[in-house]
Amino acid sequence: MQGALGQLVDWLALDPATTALLMDFDGTLSEIAGSPELARPMPGVSRMLKTLASLLGVVGVVSGRPLSFLERHLLPSGDLNPEQGGYGSSPGRLVSSSGRLALMGYYGLEGIVDGRRFRDQRGAEWEGVAQAAFEAAVSAAPEAVLVERKPLGVALHWRQAPGSEDSALAAADEVSRRYGLPASRGKMSVELRALPDVNKGSAASRLARECKRVCYLGDDLADLEAFATLDIMGRSGLTSLKVAVGGVELPNEVLARADLHLEGPAAVRDALQHLTAKLDRRRRPAP
Ligand SMILES: [Mg+2]
Repeated sequence: MQGALGQLVDWLALDPATTALLMDFDGTLSEIAGSPELARPMPGVSRMLKTLASLLGVVGVVSGRPLSFLERHLLPSGDLNPEQGGYGSSPGRLVSSSGRLALMGYYGLEGIVDGRRFRDQRGAEWEGVAQAAFEAAVSAAPEAVLVERKPLGVALHWRQAPGSEDSALAAADEVSRRYGLPASRGKMSVELRALPDVNKGSAASRLARECKRVCYLGDDLADLEAFATLDIMGRSGLTSLKVAVGGVELPNEVLARADLHLEGPAAVRDALQHLTAKLDRRRRPAP
């Protein structure tokens, strides 16, 4: 194992009990799909995350997806039932972790942390505005542009609408101004959302607060909020590692701010696999 992948695994394995491993979903744990609902984690990833959650201080996924989507694909049915405490314990684990994968849906507006669900009630105040903005975006955007309703607003995707970027952005700009929803760009998409302080940075900060080391992997502009949080935490003594994931679509800003670069979700999966094997070997008693 060489290069960035080896460096990442070594960094994570150095002091696992005090380490938080935080990851974006789309483009990091999953290939980007033509349509958002078709994205799936790389094969084996959900099982590896579950194992790693019992070996590291914190393992969490931080996404702009709804919590229900993350749960469906990362906590396979019958595997975990947080409300009934169904995670179980991890016999022989090395670390102080609860052994539970943390999920932060919709940038941390809703999630499961330590087996408990939460939802920021401020989201409910924006329901009406989000619905109105969604309907306005459906009317204003070209037909081929996918308009996705989000809890705090709306996203417009032109991955499957070649040549529609300018008109999609114009529609988004109009809706953004009319409803007072700030816009943020993503890969072939733009999202308009209320509560900009609920972001991947605030979610990462919440998950990593009891750790001494934190690693974040992401592939898009929204992940810069998490990178910035790691920089701030670093100034108060935390050790951080920022990993950019992706190939030709990886924004230059993300690559420029990262400490390491992995080529894509397959490389992330390989890193998780090597890390699991490495930590598992340590857990076993010497012959
Ligand atoms: Mg992403």
